[in-house]
Formats: sequence, structure tokens, C-alpha cells
Amino acid sequence: MRIKRLDITGFKSFMERSVFTFDDGVTGIVGPNGCGKSNVVDSIRWVMGEQSAKNLRGRGMEDVIFNGSESKPPLSMAEVSLTFHVDETDTLPVHLSGLPEVTVTRRLFRSGESEYLINKTTCRLLDITELFLGTGVGTKAYSIIEQGRVGLIVSSKPEDRRNLIEEAAGVTKYKSRRKAAERKLEATQANLLRVTDITSELE
Ligand code: ATP
Repeated sequence: MRIKRLDITGFKSFMERSVFTFDDGVTGIVGPNGCGKSNVVDSIRWVMGEQSAKNLRGRGMEDVIFNGSESKPPLSMAEVSLTFHVDETDTLPVHLSGLPEVTVTRRLFRSGESEYLINKTTCRLLDITELFLGTGVGTKAYSIIEQGRVGLIVSSKPEDRRNLIEEAAGVTKYKSRRKAAERKLEATQANLLRVTDITSELE
């Protein structure tokens, strides 16, 4: 998967709709201090499902909504869309397979209401997380390496480094599905035990 386009409206300093296109090769974003370069990276992290306001350099999640300037009033909604070019080797969920690109969108209203969409269809946060599992893209993957993180990776514990390698090898999604299946098994076993108790009470 390769990022193709980023569409930001009402997110942090981006009051007006701003569209960034990413061509092949390296894209650099330059500008004076405080102009919003890191906000672009925050918006990518956010649309991929980041749940921690702290990781987005805010106190609460509503801090991502444009909160006004000297001449502009605050907005009531932030919206970010990120479009990926799909490579032949990418494995997408059945309903998305064969599509040349996928767009994920996240909206947050000041009321606290939020929405996630894949190709303009409302979905769950889980669908977005699963879409990126094993691709290296995602909030906990290696696609976003902030200042200071390179040193952190080099000096991190072997288990943490292993997580990174597992994500690169595409193993994470199977581990996560296995965990979910184990949780379901445990719940089913607990239900079975309860049914056995009830039937023996009735006999
Ligand atoms: P530097 O080069 O110093 O790292 P930068 O270009 O990365 O700076 P950012 O940190 O992305 O800059 O942007 C900071 C700016 O974003 C500040 O001016 C701050 O006021 C503005 N900002 C952050 N959140 C909001 C918000 N919710 N509404 C409006 N402006 C915001």
C-alpha cells in the first residue's frame, strides 16, 4: 500500500480544506516553525485510528478540531481522508479486493460524535485497524517514525523489536486474529459451563 492523497479539513491548524498528493519517490514538507508540518503527520496518524490524544500532542481528542484564530471562529468538525494505492501483493478484505485504491476517512464532531469510513461507507474502527494489519501502515506500525524514534528502536527491548519485525513480515494480523479467536473460545467455554450447571440444576 502506498499513500496517494491526504485530504484535511478542520484538523488542527488546517481550517480550510487542504489536499496533499504523494507521487512516487520521496515527498518533503517544508515550512517555517509552527506552520503545521507536524500537524500533517498527526492527521495521518489520526485517520488511521489513533486513540491517544497525547500521541497527537493534545490533551483531549477535541483538540484536533480547528479551535479558531484571531480572524476565524472555531469549527465544529474535523475530517481527514487518506487514500492508498493498492499494490497487487496487498491482501484486502473480500469486499475491497480488486479495487485500485482505498480511502479511509475519520470525522470528529465537537459533540464528541465520531465516524469512520472506508470508501465512503461507514465502518467500525476495527475494520480500519484490520485493513492495515500486516501492511506496516497503522498507528502502531513502522510507517510513521517520528523524531527520536530511530534511536528508540535501536535501543528497545528485543521483544519490542520483534514486534516491529513481525509487522514487517505480515505476522501481526494472524496473531491478532488468534487472540480474538482465543477470547471467543474462552467465552464459549464459560457459556457451556453455565449451560451444564443449569441443566444439572433442572435434572
Ligand atoms: P516545528 O517546525 O516548530 O516543529 P511545525 O511546522 O511542525 O513546527 P506544528 O506543530 O505542526 O508546526 O503546528 C503548530 C501550530 O498548529 C501552532 O501554531 C498551533 O497553534 C496550531 N494548532 C494546533 N492545534 C490547533 C487547533 N486545534 N486549532 C488551530 N490551530 C492549532
